[in-house]
Amino acid sequence: MTLAFDDLLRLPDFDDVRRYVPKYDQPGPRYTSYPTAPVWTEDFDESEFREALARARNRKLSLYIHIPFCERLCSFCACNKTITQDHAVGGPYLDGLEREAEMLASAIGGERRCVQLAVGGGTPTFLSPQELARMCRVVDSHFPPDANAERSVEVDPRVTSRAQLEVLSEHGFNRISLGVQDFAPRVQRAINRVQSREQTERITLDARALGYASVNFDLIYGLPFQTVASFGETLDQVIALRPDRIALYSYAHVTWIVKAQRGFEKKDLPSAERKLAIMLLASQRLGEAGYRFLGLDHFALPQDELCVAAASGDLRRNFNGYTIRAGVDLIALGASGISELADAYAQSVRAPEPWREQVMKGHLATLRGWRLTPDDVRRKWLIQRLMCQGEVSERAYANAFGEALTERIPDLRPRLAPFVEDGLLVPDGEDYRVTPLGRLFLRVIAMSFDAYLPEPDLERPMFSRTV
Ligand code: SF4
Repeated sequence: MTLAFDDLLRLPDFDDVRRYVPKYDQPGPRYTSYPTAPVWTEDFDESEFREALARARNRKLSLYIHIPFCERLCSFCACNKTITQDHAVGGPYLDGLEREAEMLASAIGGERRCVQLAVGGGTPTFLSPQELARMCRVVDSHFPPDANAERSVEVDPRVTSRAQLEVLSEHGFNRISLGVQDFAPRVQRAINRVQSREQTERITLDARALGYASVNFDLIYGLPFQTVASFGETLDQVIALRPDRIALYSYAHVTWIVKAQRGFEKKDLPSAERKLAIMLLASQRLGEAGYRFLGLDHFALPQDELCVAAASGDLRRNFNGYTIRAGVDLIALGASGISELADAYAQSVRAPEPWREQVMKGHLATLRGWRLTPDDVRRKWLIQRLMCQGEVSERAYANAFGEALTERIPDLRPRLAPFVEDGLLVPDGEDYRVTPLGRLFLRVIAMSFDAYLPEPDLERPMFSRTV
């Protein structure tokens, strides 16, 4: 039985939420990978990555291209980006991408059919229309697109033109994701990202007119000065524009990583309780507007492929969020890009110039990575299942791996017992299902399967808080 997502649109009782916030609001990973990035090591170098790529031979590929440049700094942002107004950096960066694509293609060898391409950043539309066209030609020449390939791009509506959308559309792009975050002027000023509703609407309408099949909005809750009422107004405007998908991310306050966040005063940030109240309001309003809830932080209209995949149990989660392409290797191009193969992760050098220097010298600029052990593969599967199907299934685990889950994790039941007691999970035969309350604390439940979690260090936390 797969998770009935509509069930999860039922809202948990806010008194229950309030009761469990102090217990479950703690530093914890987001589990876009397992093992999580802090576990990876620099011992995993270029030669290890090349070996892992060779093992990926003949598999269908998903590609990610990272364009790291942004004209202005949004002070909340934890992405890997380089702020510059000098657009001359685009050409040399594309030279690096071209060289890297050649090397990756030859390391993989064989047929390299690309079933999914995502371009993110930074700001991909920092590149001119001509540069975007060159990027597409480079990638297509080394990784021919599948006839039904899904091709998506992240855009900043403040710096995106119709000409850029046209070029991408001519090269098969059919999905677009707009950074929106929040429409409230006070919040926008606080995060240094002033973006009018008209700018967002213009790109949405242009994308639809050009035939993009799916429009996504990224929103963030937990930003300075957000209130339940102010976010309600943002939701009104979002729902009126009717994006096909909405990613509703929890703001990660990680001042030890993102210095610009130190400008936020603690008193201006919503409390954990208020954050959850905003999240619940969004779940309610989006549910009433016809959206279905998917896993941790995504909503989509019922006809969207993500909803169909969720219903059939084919939803997966990777660095780009939720995806329907199970069983494909994800290969990243560009500075800081993270590749996810069946049995390995590899991340490239973060800063654009050192990355470019290495690739121009003929090296894959591998910074760090990890070769998954059989135990990692099994725990990764468990965490995926929890995040995507909302369940811990002993039966499905036994079918997938030919061993009992309690052999792998002997204290499974005592570990999950507190979540059952608090109403985050309900037992269902040999399985456990996530409840509407439990979906607010999925990251905490997932931590039960993590064999690498360090002791919490309050002085220097490694992860953002789970609420
Ligand atoms: S939110 Fe987007 S545009 Fe703003 S700094 Fe981050 S990557 Fe750049």
